[in-house]
Amino acid sequence: MSFLPATRCARGGAIETDPHAATSPPLYQTATFAQSRADNFDAYDYTRTDNPTRSAAEDLLAELEGARGALTFSSGMAAIAAVLRETSEGGRLVCGRDLYGGTQRLAHRFLEGVDVEHVDLSVDADGRCQGLEASLAAQPAAVVFVETPSNPRLEIVDLRAVARTAHAAGARLVVDGTAMTPWLQRPLELGADVVVHSATKGLNGHGDVTAGVAATSDGALLERLAGRRNAEGTALAPFESWLLLRGIRTLGPRIDSAQRTAGRLARWLAAQPWTRAVRYPGLDSHPGASLHAAQAAGGGILIGVETADEQSAKALVERTRLFSIAVSFGGVASSISLPRAMSHASVPEGAAPPPEATLVRLSIGLEAFADLQADLERAMVEAHKGARRPRATTR
Ligand SMILES: *Cc1c(COP(=O)(O)O)cnc(C)c1O
Repeated sequence: MSFLPATRCARGGAIETDPHAATSPPLYQTATFAQSRADNFDAYDYTRTDNPTRSAAEDLLAELEGARGALTFSSGMAAIAAVLRETSEGGRLVCGRDLYGGTQRLAHRFLEGVDVEHVDLSVDADGRCQGLEASLAAQPAAVVFVETPSNPRLEIVDLRAVARTAHAAGARLVVDGTAMTPWLQRPLELGADVVVHSATKGLNGHGDVTAGVAATSDGALLERLAGRRNAEGTALAPFESWLLLRGIRTLGPRIDSAQRTAGRLARWLAAQPWTRAVRYPGLDSHPGASLHAAQAAGGGILIGVETADEQSAKALVERTRLFSIAVSFGGVASSISLPRAMSHASVPEGAAPPPEATLVRLSIGLEAFADLQADLERAMVEAHKGARRPRATTR
């Protein structure tokens, strides 16, 4: 039977072969599974290779992405590392100009013999990615890797155009879909070859697990990734898989609610005198708004706020009380961060340009709109005073 994503999430994770027909996914917290014979491994033999709770999470993720298969890893970076090492080692990797700091660190410092280039992925009036075309024509690449909306600047990349351009030059397109989750955007349907996620963020959504996913319909690649994961032991543990499943079962209602609040906050923030600019892909003022609307089901839960200067950015972050100062995002609890000093502090020299020091990133959770608004307003009034009195104490 084929079900819509809401139904898949709500009923996801059932293990059909469970002898007791548990209606909630059972947790197989075991390292080994007894074999029927010495020379027969049966469906499961060792959790490093496969585990029923993990498989249940992976089956649900594959359905949500419209992929032939999905593999979970101990973190988003473990998933990204496995995919990039399997697809680009010894070759060339072309990335967008704005990328999660940890991915830049991995690409520039830890991928063996990989030549990394950041290119302009914008599309001209004829729908051509000239920057990418030129880069791939000058030197072929194995992989084009993008985020949209990107972290942290929330820039939009035209996935259909980038996929076309990459494929014409014989490259694979890998999309980091963390910011949207498959609830809002399904990159494989837009032409990507592989989608990766930090499931630590919106997919799990409760801030209590680090997890990663790689999903693809390329059967040979899935097999190699599964083989590598087994060889290296980087799969998601059973309890984490169980927590992730629990998180995904409420994915839609969580994202829908947080996104509604984020849209209202973005509109309100844009009208405040103390914001220099508000970046939210669901606002008409965002340069990528119409492109984003054509490839995603909403503006998402992240808002970028540009303040007048570095001091007021730092003051805003430090004076909010409801928003915790945290690097992650996508949880039920709202958080606030200064990407330049936090998630992107690890970006090596020579990688993509660092985020502006005046950029504050908000991740909207499930709190009441009015409470979040009041917290930002109070923090901003104080921060504004603080900007004129640099030595004012915080909190
Ligand atoms: C957090 C994040 C990652 C890394 O995921 P971890 O689970 O922290 O390893 C990768 N990409 C994006 C866009 C992220 O936000």
